[in-house]
Amino acid sequence: MSFTELGLSAPIQKAIAEKGYDKPSPIQAQAIPAVLDGKDVMAAAQTGTGKTAGFTLPILELLSKGDKVKANQARTLIITPTRELAAQIAENVEMYGKNLPLKSTVVFGGVKINPQMQRLRQGVDILVATPGRLLDLYNQNAVRFNQLEILVLDEADRMLDMGFLRDIKKILSLLPKTRQNLLFSATFSPDIRELAKGLVNNPVEVSVSPKNTTAETVEQLVYSVDKNKKSPLLTHLIKANNWQQVIVFMKTKHGANKLTKQLDAAGIKAAAIHGNKSQGARTKALAQFKDGNINVLVATDIAARGIDIDQLPQVVNFELPNVPEDYVHRIGRTGRAGSTGHAVSLVCADEIDLLNDVQHVIQTHLPREIVAGFEPVHVLPESRKLRPLKAKKPKKIKQAKKEHVEHKDGQRSGDNARGHKPTGKNKRHTGNKSHNPYANSPGKANNTGGRRRNSSSTK
Ligand code: AMP
Repeated sequence: MSFTELGLSAPIQKAIAEKGYDKPSPIQAQAIPAVLDGKDVMAAAQTGTGKTAGFTLPILELLSKGDKVKANQARTLIITPTRELAAQIAENVEMYGKNLPLKSTVVFGGVKINPQMQRLRQGVDILVATPGRLLDLYNQNAVRFNQLEILVLDEADRMLDMGFLRDIKKILSLLPKTRQNLLFSATFSPDIRELAKGLVNNPVEVSVSPKNTTAETVEQLVYSVDKNKKSPLLTHLIKANNWQQVIVFMKTKHGANKLTKQLDAAGIKAAAIHGNKSQGARTKALAQFKDGNINVLVATDIAARGIDIDQLPQVVNFELPNVPEDYVHRIGRTGRAGSTGHAVSLVCADEIDLLNDVQHVIQTHLPREIVAGFEPVHVLPESRKLRPLKAKKPKKIKQAKKEHVEHKDGQRSGDNARGHKPTGKNKRHTGNKSHNPYANSPGKANNTGGRRRNSSSTK
């Protein structure tokens, strides 16, 4: 299948050709015709599968044919959990729509609201938004949805994890009843299916199975090491392997700051990226990382979500995540764009339960190594035997409790949002193995980097 067969018009095909894509990814081949047909779509796809183009390209096609947008209206709303992801999607919209006379913009918290209000004044064909800031803008009469034709919920599973359910329901209540709905989620957990019931009508279900993805292998390894030796071991690994571009994952903002200082002191150029950093600082750190001025980005899970960098070769889990599915998202940062990625985890003895949880989700025992000079005093216990993943019964979604303080924009900080465990082990996202493209043969996908921007006109 080629892009020409998908029914996209010449201006869009030109933009795709300039991007250098020769054929649609599996998710695009399935989603684009369905969206062009005006159908609701429910798609199971991870970041890295080409899902953004999967919904953006047909949306641009549909919008290029409709009515002109009026002041303060939005014809398409793309809701996404994090600022980084919002910026990323907006960048894609701008790029794929550059030959069309359509307007788009992106709004998220952590930056001034006034410029966003100004950009919305003329109305936009595509509005990319995080939930909290979108509601703020609505409450200030900066945006209205009378002309809304299409709604996209991107990374829906992550939005529920972050406690955005109430905001999403509020947003849905503001939209016209007749509209096209596209729901994208890394997994179709029972909670997502429950959300979908009140959202999509007779949807086309699209799922990218591991075999169909453009995935290649992410090599994964566990270094067994004592907790107090993790930082020196990381420094050693970076220097000995001459790693030029590494994302290091931490559980907490405090931990990320501390490690960044330690790396700096060891002569390694590092920057932290997490929810307490201003949007300006996050954007700057990311730009410096992409340019190669910084070699190590120390990130919390949510801050790192959506980061799309060409051929990121190396991911380090300095600590294993509390929520095992985050491991899958983390290693999804590497091995993209046709390259083989490496993901190493520095695991100390008291992380054995977290390691077992991760291995259960990926249904694989990770190989272990010990680095000479960093032999652990506290030996990492044997892994638990693998048990098959069980499908869970759908449970009723309860209103997500907002236990933690939100930023003003409704964009909750990474650590607050992720600091909880699901109720009971692996209660969420387990599903069956086919939902997890990283099981056994961890995946990757195509990818290109690019600069961030806060607003654009696709014109
Ligand atoms: P996404 O899953 O939307 O985050 O996309 C992952 C990466 O794949 C992005 O950097 C895209 O530029 C790239 N991409 C999307 N579609 C294609 C395609 N058909 N061929 C090659 N690369 C693609």
